[in-house]
Amino acid sequence: MPDLNLTLELAFLYDLQQIDAEILTRHKRLKLIPNDIQKLREDFRVHEQKLNALKDQLSQAEKEQRFRSAEIETLDEQRKKYQAQLTAVKTNSEMKALYSQLEFLDQQEEKIEDQILELMFIVDDLGGEVKKEHEILSTKNVDRKAEEAELQTIAQDIKADISEIQEKRQNLIQKVNPDLFEQYQSRVATQHTNLVTPVVGNSCGYCKLTIPPQMLNEVKQARKKIACPSCKLILFELLNLEQTDDATGE
Ligand SMILES: [Zn+2]
Repeated sequence: MPDLNLTLELAFLYDLQQIDAEILTRHKRLKLIPNDIQKLREDFRVHEQKLNALKDQLSQAEKEQRFRSAEIETLDEQRKKYQAQLTAVKTNSEMKALYSQLEFLDQQEEKIEDQILELMFIVDDLGGEVKKEHEILSTKNVDRKAEEAELQTIAQDIKADISEIQEKRQNLIQKVNPDLFEQYQSRVATQHTNLVTPVVGNSCGYCKLTIPPQMLNEVKQARKKIACPSCKLILFELLNLEQTDDATGE
């Protein structure tokens, strides 16, 4: 007859290992959530910066536009002065000089008007881009808030899950043999591995090594602890619950 006490002790510890693995998985997931939120915010910030850069370009172009228009006004003032002087010229050469000044003014004004026209196109384009980016940003803002809220909910669910599992763990620890528990804790702390693993078929459930028949037999007899020759985890036969309940008379 196999020694059910040892088998059960190992099985309880195995359950504890499974529970700890579940808790660890959830902790890892939980740890990622602030990063995910950070990524969402960074992505949003990139778009925000793009919009701000476009707005800057737009106001720069508008400023330039105003500056050029003011230049035209100054030239117009100048023209009026020359035209007034024309009525009072006394010599041909004076008149010639004034005409050539006026011609120069016209050329200047034509150049500036071309620039203003070009600026109008630029302002138009930038205005369109600003509007488009604004729309993208407000959609993104709604999406980001929703995604963030979802991540917060997931985090809360995971935390609730963890405390539920912790409770199960507390109950289970009562059943685990204290020496085995201590051994397990030191194994986890120093080697970051588990302590026990069931045999699956005729192989080690952890490293898959085929267990020699004699050793497999000893594992099933469970009179002493037998470690897998390769991964060093203690092997045990995983019995189904009904069998163990019957056998222990619980
Ligand atoms: Zn193994």
